Amino acid sequence: MINLKREHLATIGAHGERDYPYECCGLLIGTFADDGTKTVEEIYSISNARAEADKRHRFLITPQEFMRGERHARSRQLDVIGIYHSHPDDKAEPSQFDLDHALPVYSYIIISVREGRATDVFSWLMEDDRSRFNAEEIMTTEN
Ligand SMILES: [Zn+2]
Repeated sequence: MINLKREHLATIGAHGERDYPYECCGLLIGTFADDGTKTVEEIYSISNARAEADKRHRFLITPQEFMRGERHARSRQLDVIGIYHSHPDDKAEPSQFDLDHALPVYSYIIISVREGRATDVFSWLMEDDRSRFNAEEIMTTEN
C-alpha cells in the first residue's frame, strides 16, 4: 500500500497535464515502513530527458537527475520510494517497456492523461522475479 496526500495526486496530475502530449516523470520521495507500506512526503518532478521524437511514449530520468533526487531525499531524511510518469492518451497501466526498465521495491505510479486532462491513476509494484507488475493499493489522505 502507498499513502499519498490529495495534494500529491494533484501535483502529479498537473505535471501530466502540463507536459501533455509528452510523458512527464518524477520521483516519489517519502518513507518505507517495515511492513512494506510506503508514505509519500514529496513529489519531485524531473524533466523528461527523452528526445523529442520519443517523448510521447517514453520517459527517461538520467542517472544524474536520479542522484540529485536521492540527495534531496536524504537531506530531508527521506528515501526515493518510487517513480511516477504519465501515459498520454493511454491506459494507466505499465507497458512492456516499463516492465523492462523497472526495479522491484519501488512503487510505479502511472497517470493517464487524455486529451490534456489527467484521468485514472494507479500504482504498480513489480513481482520479485520481475515477471509482471501487480496493482498496489493507493490510500489518499486529505493532509
Ligand atoms: Zn509507461
